[in-house]
Amino acid sequence: MPEGEMPKEVAYRMIKDEMSLDGNPMLNLASFVTTYMEEEAEKLMTESFPKNFIDYEEYPQTTEIQNRCVSMIGRLFNAPVSPGENAGAVGTSCVGSSEAVMLAVLAMKKRWKNKRMAEGKPCDRPNIIMSSAVQVVWEKATRYFEIEEKLVYCTEDRYVIDPEETVNLVDENTIGICCILGTTYTGEYENVKAVNDLLTERGLDTPIHVDAASGGFVAPFVVPELKWDFRLPHVVSINVSGHKYGLVYPGVGWVVWRSAEYLPQELVFNINYLGADQASFTLNFSKGASQVIGQYYQLIRLGKHGYRAIMSNLTRTADYLSDSLEVLGFIIMSKKSGEGLPLVAFRLPHLEDRQYDEFALAHALRTRGWIVPAYTMAPHTKGLKMLRVVVREDFTKNRCDALIADIKLSQQSLEQMDHESIKKQQEFIHKHHTASSKATHNHPKYRKENHSLQGKTGKTHAVC
Ligand SMILES: *Cc1c(COP(=O)(O)O)cnc(C)c1O
Repeated sequence: MPEGEMPKEVAYRMIKDEMSLDGNPMLNLASFVTTYMEEEAEKLMTESFPKNFIDYEEYPQTTEIQNRCVSMIGRLFNAPVSPGENAGAVGTSCVGSSEAVMLAVLAMKKRWKNKRMAEGKPCDRPNIIMSSAVQVVWEKATRYFEIEEKLVYCTEDRYVIDPEETVNLVDENTIGICCILGTTYTGEYENVKAVNDLLTERGLDTPIHVDAASGGFVAPFVVPELKWDFRLPHVVSINVSGHKYGLVYPGVGWVVWRSAEYLPQELVFNINYLGADQASFTLNFSKGASQVIGQYYQLIRLGKHGYRAIMSNLTRTADYLSDSLEVLGFIIMSKKSGEGLPLVAFRLPHLEDRQYDEFALAHALRTRGWIVPAYTMAPHTKGLKMLRVVVREDFTKNRCDALIADIKLSQQSLEQMDHESIKKQQEFIHKHHTASSKATHNHPKYRKENHSLQGKTGKTHAVC
């Protein structure tokens, strides 16, 4: 921290210049997170900067707006509405899906524990069932809250959970099952209905939580007939990232329970709100109000028709990109026609005489400004490598054509490089991409972790 002040223009310029070294969000095809909002939304959000969201008493209208968002999202996910104390969805805004998942996991753990205690049974070994392709928050949640993780592994040609294998893992200590609506690697929707139906068939009452971080604002509009939400009786809670296909700038997620029955009382605190109480169940206290306001703007500005139009358009662009990449000889690993998220996951065919891999191609594209990440897939896929392009609202057909042209050029230039230089470059890239142990900004104590799926198996956590 400097001793003295500096002129505001200088501070602005210095920081702005430094930030020009960051990637360009528009060309960042790695991220699901929103990079475009309308000026009116930005204006409202800027005007809300000084508001602390948690001050219900001082900003009652902001609280009201959050509650309306929860209600709209609950209905979008088909939460049952019936009269009575426990009726209707309950939920809250969060900083993102990660906080939302943490809360949902805590609720499942608490419910399981309460039930076990009431039955006089031990409750010291809770477990949760999930895919090995889970987003890193699930690994964090199990570790932070001391829950054993039971993994359903992907295979070389199946990148989602196998429902049968999943339900076979259920035992008396299972607090719940996680199903992902749109995995971060290939965007494929896990078969929630099959898991639900198998549980019913076997007379099990295991709850399902759907991690719909990305798919929650896509599936209801593109494939409304797909049953993955509260229409399935075993689905007790769902999270969605408002800042992904909810179309809000980073900093908002949602968690919704099908009814109050599934959110144990012990997790809820009441905060004074205009003489009455407003329930609060979040991990953190203070946060900005802007993101909730931004979400409300998008929901009422676009309506169902607007979201449907945008999500269908993204799906068409993703299909177009898939078809074009197939023509270039790539193998497409993601679904088409709205059967998964609007993204394209692809890899190079296994050819003996090709000298470069997916990481080298990603590196070559970077020189044109495109950020297209390369990954090593979830464990048990024989180190399968892949590239992924996330199609967002600001990725037009025109930009898509520019990307395809640059992929062609990059391939040509890689093919023309002599074997020796490719090998050298590849070694450099692999070191650079995969050696967090060398990163100087990482504290030496934490550089070599080997407890996570990344540390243990070499899986790379996909960018979200
Ligand atoms: C993005 C993502 C998360 C984490 O959500 P944040 O909103 O980034 O906290 C969790 N699960 C899945 C499937 C995701 O895609």
